[in-house]
This record gives sequence, structure tokens and C-alpha cells, in this order.
Amino acid sequence: MVRLRDRLARSQNVLGRGLLELLSRDRLDDDVWDEIEEILITADVGVAPTRVMVDDLRTKVKVLGSRTPDEVRKLLREELLGQVGTDLDRTLHTSAPGDRPAVVLVVGVNGTGKTTTSGKLARVLVGDGAKVVLGAADTFRAAATDQLQTWGDRVGAAVVRGPEGGDPASVAFDAVAKGIEEKADTVIVDTAGRLHTKTGLMDELGKVKRVIEKKAEVDEVLLVLDATTGQNGMRQAQVFAEVVNVTGIALTKLDGTAKGGIVISVQRELGVPVKLVGLGEGPDDLAPFDPEVFVDALIG
Ligand code: GDP
Repeated sequence: MVRLRDRLARSQNVLGRGLLELLSRDRLDDDVWDEIEEILITADVGVAPTRVMVDDLRTKVKVLGSRTPDEVRKLLREELLGQVGTDLDRTLHTSAPGDRPAVVLVVGVNGTGKTTTSGKLARVLVGDGAKVVLGAADTFRAAATDQLQTWGDRVGAAVVRGPEGGDPASVAFDAVAKGIEEKADTVIVDTAGRLHTKTGLMDELGKVKRVIEKKAEVDEVLLVLDATTGQNGMRQAQVFAEVVNVTGIALTKLDGTAKGGIVISVQRELGVPVKLVGLGEGPDDLAPFDPEVFVDALIG
């Protein structure tokens, strides 16, 4: 896996360094606080969390009085860590008790990086010695099955596929059945993210989940969210969270954006922790989300 810090350092410092610079100024007048607010909003921290952060920072700065650079850094670091959440359970449930495989359902809007994330995750698990089956239940996007097959071949995971336009639930069922039969450790099911209507999505994903549950439990529902789509992507993510019981977020394309604040807003809006981050298109560009490393990368 890539180092989160190296990959983020290049794109994220607008947020962290910008805040550090402003908070270090001698006079913190209303204009400076407006700028701080603007940086947070621009970085997709979200309106409500931004207000909380600005209020917190104002209070803490007042208590501090005169500020040394080290004190400012410490104060900002603590504030960001508090917002990102160091106490959330970010365990990715990729192994199950007993001898059944764990089932990971990968959901999200098309184009967010579901197939890529499924492939990268398979690579990490196989690298750790696990046996992985990939289920290509995105039968609607013509290239998705072949794309997943390429990942499977590349990382050494079996791929269960169905006919193009076939029933996603039946592919998911077959993938889990194969996982059980072959005593796999993990079955990762890549789904279609057709957000045509909420009921349509609910029917489709609901059926996939129900059908899987005839064979095994679903241990992890990973919602893939593209960090570059900002608040718009968040609204779509919310629809998914209403339809399935999301247990973790994989935030992709964090390498291509300075809007790392989305970590804060998405967790707050959906009440689900970010567990994985996508940091590029390559096979190793997936990392577990570590709040401390993330915040340190932000403030440089
Ligand atoms: P899906 O439709 O949700 O399955 O999305 P794909 O997995 O096909 O990904 C859509 C595009 O995003 C592809 O070109 C991927 O290579 C790219 N992508 C996925 N994850 C990342 C990431 O973390 N960083 C970058 N830069 N690109 C990514």
C-alpha cells in the first residue's frame, strides 16, 4: 500500500497550511476568521462542521493569548483530529468467524471507483495470504466485468461473472457460493451504481443483499465515494446510505483533490467512518485511513 502521507502531501496542504498561516497571524480580526471559514468550506468540510471548527478555534485561540508557531500547530492538529475522529472503529471486516468467507459488498455511484477499489482491496488481501473471490455483479456497465476480470487475473483472485445485463443478485449469489465451496477467506461483490430512482436502487441493492444472505452474512458494506465530487457526491452517497446499511466508506481520488475536508463532512453526514482511501489508479494505491497520518499530511 502507498504511504498516505506521501500521496496527500502534494495536494492537501491548501487546507492545512492555509489554516496554519492564518492562525499564526498577530491580529486575528473578523476578516481573518472569514478567510479561515472560506478555506474550510472550499475544502468541503461542510457548513455545519465549519461553524463548529471556527467557534472552537476562536475560543481556543482566545484562551491561548499570544501564540508560538508550535502552539498554533498543536491547537490546529488537535482540532482537526477531533473533527476527523480518532476514536471511530475503522476495522474493515474482511474475515469472518468460523469457516465461512467474509462478504464485502461494494456500493456507490458509477464512476466513483467501485471496480478499482474492489480490485485493489483484493490485491491487499491476497498479499496478506487470503484467498479472495471477486463477484462481478455490475452487469449493467458493459466494461465492468472485464475490468474486474483483469484485476482478478492480475492479483490472483477468482472472478465470478454473469452475462451482460444479467441479474446482479444471481452473480452475487454465485460468487458467495463459490467462496463457500472453495473455502475462500473473503468474497468481494462489486455492484452497479445505477442511481436512476431511489426505489429502483433499493430494489436492486436490496435484492443483492437478500440473496447473498441466503448463503452468508454481509460483513461489510463499503460505500465508495469520489472525493473530487464534493457536496454533490455526498448527496448521492446519502441515497445509498438510506438504501443499504453502510458500514464503511472508501474515499477515492484523494490524490487528485485539495478538498480533504470531505472526510469530516461525509462521516458527520452519514455517521459512518472512512475506512479506506484511494490515492491513485495503480494497484497499490489504496490505504487504510489513519486520522493521525491524514491530519499530519494536511498541516505538513
Ligand atoms: P466504478 O464505475 O465505480 O466501478 O468506477 P471505476 O473503478 O471504473 O473507476 C472510475 C475511474 O476512476 C477509473 O479511471 C479509475 O482508474 C479511477 N480511479 C478509481 N480510484 C481512483 C483513485 O483513488 N485515484 C485516482 N486518481 N483515480 C481513481
